Amino acid sequence: MFRTFLALALALVPMLARAEAPAAGQRLILVTMDGTRWQEVFRGADKALVADPKFTHPDWKETVEKVWNTGAGVMPFVHGLAAQGGVLYGNRDAGECMRVTNPMWFSYPGYNEILTGRPDPAITSNDKAWNRNVTFLEWLNHRPGFAGEVRMYGTWDVFPYIINDKRSGVPVNGEAPGALPTETRTMRMAQDALRSAANLRVLYVALGDTDEFAHEGDYAQVLAAMNRDDDFIAELWRMAQADPAWRGRTTLIVTTDHGRGAKPGAAWTEHGSAAAWKLAPQDYTIADPEGFPGSDAIWLAAIGPGVHPAPLLSLKTACLTQSQIAASALTALGENWQAFDAGAGAPLPFFGGR
Ligand SMILES: [Zn+2]
Repeated sequence: MFRTFLALALALVPMLARAEAPAAGQRLILVTMDGTRWQEVFRGADKALVADPKFTHPDWKETVEKVWNTGAGVMPFVHGLAAQGGVLYGNRDAGECMRVTNPMWFSYPGYNEILTGRPDPAITSNDKAWNRNVTFLEWLNHRPGFAGEVRMYGTWDVFPYIINDKRSGVPVNGEAPGALPTETRTMRMAQDALRSAANLRVLYVALGDTDEFAHEGDYAQVLAAMNRDDDFIAELWRMAQADPAWRGRTTLIVTTDHGRGAKPGAAWTEHGSAAAWKLAPQDYTIADPEGFPGSDAIWLAAIGPGVHPAPLLSLKTACLTQSQIAASALTALGENWQAFDAGAGAPLPFFGGR
């Protein structure tokens, strides 16, 4: 009897220790959805693109028209954030504006801007080049309380270079270094990390199916990928709220590296500025020296103790920028963003900045 009791008590010890772990400071979950347009996030499916069999397979038409004909239909979790004290920002139909400040409007320059807080005009390709810039992930990974507790999971093999995992020490894709996991595997690895790494402070998950399917011109699969991503983000947030180590001290930020072309027709399949197009026209399926206007437009969603949506009312005239995300993330973590880089974009208004 006593033995059984003892065994039971001992078995409970690790659980209690986990549950009663002292508050170890603020935490951050950052999720990016590659090349996801604000148009689909806020408006849902574009009727002209759904009507065009070149872009929307007839098998999917009914689902798209019935379920994904609104932004809230495509991304219900993200659209529910405002009601829970969070924000979803970047709806140009409502007078909101958010954009990238890098001159390229594609991925490496965008992720660099998100993670370093400023554009680097010297980054003009997606080539596998080690990033010379220090990301806020790298900076945190050398700070007390964060060292070894910053991780990144992504589906694109350029991320080790953008994060400069060799120099930064920030592990990219955990147990599968060098491998390129599918998006579902990336999602599972990120959820495992949230569940099992008790002291993890920063979890960055970069999802890429949205951009892949858009380049293929498969509109229904883009919407399906957005919907899957929304489910994944909802589950990640639910897990964080169910875990005493994450609950109440975790801020979630969801955003994108760039938008996509806004002209009618096939422009939505592509993205990039006129300058980017001129540098490498062979990289694009559409020949247009104007590039893809509108692909500098982005959006952002956030919730958690770092988010204060009240000042949103006064935002209608300013265009917020991608370069403000790094300082926002650091502020949400209780860190001094100016100690990271005083020249970085200031925190977004709903992270206490102006
Ligand atoms: Zn792309």
